[in-house]
Amino acid sequence: MQAETVFDRLRNCPDLPTPPAVALRIIELAQDPFADLARTADEIALDPALSARILRIANSPLYASICRRQVTSLPQAVTLLGLNAALSLALGFSLASTLRGPDGIAEERQRIWRRSVLAALASRMLGEEAGIRELEELMLGALLQDIGALALLQVFPEAYAGLLASPAGPGEELRREREVFGADHSQVGGWLASQWKLPDSVGAMIRDSESCAAGNPMSACVAASGHMADLWLDPADERSREHALEQLLACRDLSLPAITEMIDAMTAALPEVETLFDVRLECAHQADAIKRQARELLILRNLVEIRNAAQAREAAREAEARAAELADQARRDPLTGAYNRVRLEEVLQREFDESMRTGRPLSVAFIDLDDFKLINDRHGHLVGDEVLRRFSGTLERLLRKSDLLARYGGEEFLIVLGNCDAATAARTLQRILEEVSRAPLLEADGEPVRLTFSAGIACHGDGARFASARDLLRAADDALYGAKREGRNRISPQQPD
Ligand code: GH3
Ligand code: MG
Ligand code: MG
Repeated sequence: MQAETVFDRLRNCPDLPTPPAVALRIIELAQDPFADLARTADEIALDPALSARILRIANSPLYASICRRQVTSLPQAVTLLGLNAALSLALGFSLASTLRGPDGIAEERQRIWRRSVLAALASRMLGEEAGIRELEELMLGALLQDIGALALLQVFPEAYAGLLASPAGPGEELRREREVFGADHSQVGGWLASQWKLPDSVGAMIRDSESCAAGNPMSACVAASGHMADLWLDPADERSREHALEQLLACRDLSLPAITEMIDAMTAALPEVETLFDVRLECAHQADAIKRQARELLILRNLVEIRNAAQAREAAREAEARAAELADQARRDPLTGAYNRVRLEEVLQREFDESMRTGRPLSVAFIDLDDFKLINDRHGHLVGDEVLRRFSGTLERLLRKSDLLARYGGEEFLIVLGNCDAATAARTLQRILEEVSRAPLLEADGEPVRLTFSAGIACHGDGARFASARDLLRAADDALYGAKREGRNRISPQQPD
């Protein structure tokens, strides 16, 4: 069904809810910039039932904040309450009772109207909590938010009652209405509001009544009021109440004390509202159950939030650790686990700058395994790899934490010894050489695999000075060359220039 068709059908429906004559006059007066409230009072006075209600509401505890004194005259009451309150009442108490139509849907109609009245009351509490001043206008919007549903029910009794009866997930209801009727009940309600020439702001509240995200705080209040009304509607159904609570909390971030206070205020006002709107709500006894469920839900939410926060912290920690691990891996040689040249260059430059700045000596040792090719040739590359790993492990074990071991390439290693003079560096390397050559590193093919190495040491800031880290490295490489030349298995200090 297309939207046009639905609105055409609504236009031509004799049973459509219509505002009573007095409400239409109030609406008219509200549009008239020259009309005064006294004239509205005159109009209302023509309707004795409405007059009685307005006087009653002006003196009701609901309006205690506005009317502190006993209100005895109609003009006084209308002046105090304002046009919107008068309109709410004029529309409110008559709309439901003037609804005619098939009896088969009396129950659904009643239910929609009960929800509207509860929402009007809830909107007052929500509006006060949100600091909204136009409470009468807000109540009017909340009261009329489901007027479109009443209209749809009236015009398509069977189809709409069927839709209401079948369970729908969140957001489903409106989508299905649009599918079947070409417009959902908030759109139909908005259309009706414009037909009745209700103030635009009220029409907007009706149109936005299903959307919590409504930018306007009054519309958002109306949306929340519908969910608050749902809390009271199905006394025995914990599931639907939980759903309504979740919807309400999604609309408005309410604390438990705020909810409790509103439920209590609503409970106190229920008898008054029943009389004023001529509807039997019979739900005051549910207040305790609603408060209990709200408390449980909020406690649960807190727990879930705490758990989620802890999980998020843990995940962030893990991600950080993983990133650090990956960054470390990117700086290591995969075979031996020693640092690679990327890291070596970073550290060497940093240490060189530090030595320049502080004058503390910096030593580097270039190491090359002796006749390593023979090990590969004799036992194969896998054994050669294992020798490289063990050699690297031995170095790691014998060095200070502050020293840096890097695999320079193939069977060549480099050690950066910060704050270490030439003699100390030579002693350290000598100790390592003794340790490495003392016992076989491993056994292969039933025979021990022994290893020696040659090393060249260069030191900056202890006698010699170098222009750059690169020069220092070159000097160590030259010294290594000397060690090889002199017969291997030895440590050579840098050669004097
Ligand atoms: P020198 O005493 O003169 O240094 O003799 P050497 O045999 O140690 O030196 P040479 O440069 O002739 O040979 C180095 C060998 O190291 C050759 C190469 O196959 C081997 N090698 C380099 N990288 C690896 C590696 O990752 N694993 C294994 N198993 N062998 C490697
Ligand atoms: Mg070599
Ligand atoms: Mg070698």
